Order: sequence, then structure tokens, then C-alpha cells
Amino acid sequence: MSIAMTRTQAPVVVDESKCIADKGCTVCVDVCPLDVLVIDMISNKAKMKFDECWYCMPCEKDCPTGAVHVNIPYLVR
Ligand code: SF4
Ligand code: SF4
Repeated sequence: MSIAMTRTQAPVVVDESKCIADKGCTVCVDVCPLDVLVIDMISNKAKMKFDECWYCMPCEKDCPTGAVHVNIPYLVR
């Protein structure tokens, strides 16, 4: 439905087949200092709410199943 959110290169991509938010995990949502990650009410998986990111990485590092991938742009390091 949200066409604006379905770009090919979002800053953070969640592999829904690995995400265990439907089992109660909210780690990535909790660690994000920008508060841009949410658990989708329909799919019960984590996703980006806003297309913003500090590329600080705890969401990817702390995800227990390795479902989060942060696409770091070449110019941001
Ligand atoms: S930390 Fe990983 S498993 Fe947990 S909600 Fe986020 S993406 Fe899903
Ligand atoms: S890299 Fe940082 S700012 Fe970006 S989604 Fe993950 S925790 Fe949030």
C-alpha cells in the first residue's frame, strides 16, 4: 500500500523470513536511537517506519537472528 516506502534501496532491510517479531522480539525497535523501526501490525515483522537512518548499526548487530541488514551508503562512514 505505501508505495513511497517500497524503494529498492531502503536504508534498512529486514528479512521477514528470519525476523521473529511474531514471537515477541522487539530488539531492533528498542535499540534504534532514531526510533525509525517498528513492528508491522499486519505482517508481525520489523520494518522501517521512516526513511531515515544514522547507520549506527545496533539494529543489525543486536538482532538475534541476523534478519536486519543496514545498507551503508558509500559516502557515509
Ligand atoms: S531484532 Fe531481528 S528478529 Fe527482532 S524484531 Fe528486529 S528484525 Fe525481527
Ligand atoms: S542503523 Fe541505527 S538509526 Fe539506522 S535503523 Fe539501525 S539502529 Fe536505527
